[in-house]
Amino acid sequence: MALSKVALITGGSRGIGAATARALAAEGWDIAISYRARQDAAEQVAEECRALGRRALTVRADVSDQDDIAALFAAAATGLGEIDAVVNNAGVVPPASRVEHYDADRVNQLFATNVTGAFLVAAHAVRRMSSMHGGRGGVIVNVSSRAAVLGGAGEYVDYAASKAAIDALTIGLAAEVGAEGIRVVGVRPGLIDTEIHAPGRLERLGSTPPMGRPGTAEEVADTIAFLASDRASYLTGTTVDVSGGR
Ligand code: NDP
Repeated sequence: MALSKVALITGGSRGIGAATARALAAEGWDIAISYRARQDAAEQVAEECRALGRRALTVRADVSDQDDIAALFAAAATGLGEIDAVVNNAGVVPPASRVEHYDADRVNQLFATNVTGAFLVAAHAVRRMSSMHGGRGGVIVNVSSRAAVLGGAGEYVDYAASKAAIDALTIGLAAEVGAEGIRVVGVRPGLIDTEIHAPGRLERLGSTPPMGRPGTAEEVADTIAFLASDRASYLTGTTVDVSGGR
């Protein structure tokens, strides 16, 4: 019999989030897809999940807004039932700049989405999943970046720091909730061919060794689908590099 589990994906309208929605739907999950602005793109992804025989819905939610996050979880649970997996994927990259040119607007806006948003999404996930709150357990997959380790020098040290915070969330939260039936894991994508990159960046960096090509959103999504599945049942507190060795 097919699985009937529910996954919620933030930033599921395009790129890695959209590919993850398709990958999880193909493995039998019902899918709640959140988006910030691109409703048409999110609806298209939901249609593709339905074509795979799964239930799917879309919800507009800006993860930098805590009311939107609360409404997102409520809408997903009302529409699809209790949530078994949350893919904490929504994220932004700021324009390339050295640290000396940063101002408060730049850093605050970036952290509001990549850090505050991701932490609040994780907080809602735990409240719903934790056996301490009557939940049935689950898994949170945090989308970090290789930049967290490489540092982002000359381009976006703030982005790298925001993703290092996500790695710390994965380690610390996993320890907090492991006994409550919740696994917390992460992926660290390298250079992946999506719209997040400024024009020309992929062409400039795509041939970086060792694999000499950018990755695809599907290659990251397959790892996320594995981490969310019971095949990864003894993995928690760890983050997997999906970076072509970069
Ligand atoms: P895309 O730009 O292709 O997609 C970003 C997604 O996030 C979209 O669905 C977008 O929604 C959504 N989003 C952006 N800001 C918000 C917000 N404030 N609230 C809710 N949703 C939001 O990027 P990727 O798929 O490449 O990136 C996904 C994740 O992977 C990010 O966390 C990114 O940092 C990380 N990553 C990506 C890498 C890469 O090379 N591509 C490398 C390492 C990490 P909408 O369509 O409505 O705008």
